Amino acid sequence: MRRKLVIGNWKMNGSRDSISVLLSGVAEGLAAKAAQRADAAVCAPAPYLAQCQAALAGTPVAWGAQDVSAFAAGAYTGEVAASMLADFACRYVIVGHSERRAYHQESNELVAQKALAALAAGLTPVVCVGETLAEREAGQTGVVVCAQLQAVLDVLETPALGKIVLAYEPVWAIGTGKTATPAMAQEVHALLRKQVAARDAATAGGMQILYGGSMKPDNAKELMAQPDIDGGLIGGASLKAADFLGIVHAAD
Ligand code: 13P
Repeated sequence: MRRKLVIGNWKMNGSRDSISVLLSGVAEGLAAKAAQRADAAVCAPAPYLAQCQAALAGTPVAWGAQDVSAFAAGAYTGEVAASMLADFACRYVIVGHSERRAYHQESNELVAQKALAALAAGLTPVVCVGETLAEREAGQTGVVVCAQLQAVLDVLETPALGKIVLAYEPVWAIGTGKTATPAMAQEVHALLRKQVAARDAATAGGMQILYGGSMKPDNAKELMAQPDIDGGLIGGASLKAADFLGIVHAAD
């Protein structure tokens, strides 16, 4: 039985003050860890990771980053190494978010290298895949997401593959208020799991595959009730503690 996992992706939002309020709201809301409760984490902008560590250490809420360098160290101005994220006790790091693929030209191969770098530092990469509206309308959804996943499969040995989290985020559903229907999302999640199963059935059976794209407290339960949807990667609704907690509780 896979545990549910709900991760907030704050993107480039917040300030020291607003993040302090948000962190206490989330930590207090989940202070008592119920055994059946979904796991929860927040992925903050890098400058606030120390603040996350200070506020969340000892609580049931984990924290992480939104991107990582594919390189271990060196002359890469502006980049943040996986070992630096580990220094602040990050558990997760998002790689291959569609905003990075679109605005920073990240290729499937670079995303795979980032996943490798994260694993080498002991972090759990949350590997994002997803199609654009044009790709969906052209009937290319399966081809696109499978190619994105395949690049990761190509560089990870089976034991390492068992340590990643996958996230399906249809680009057309991100920040638009348009959610994939549970059936549409389930279809893609099942396809992704099948692709992992072709490598190793046990790894596929244990892999958490999150859905992301306009998930809110009022649609989360139905989405996460699908057999292959193991939680959510939440953008907008993770910026308010009450909404984020509502989604975590929907996963309970
Ligand atoms: P929204 O929840 O704002 O649609 O964002 C989803 C997302 O991109 C999470 O990574």
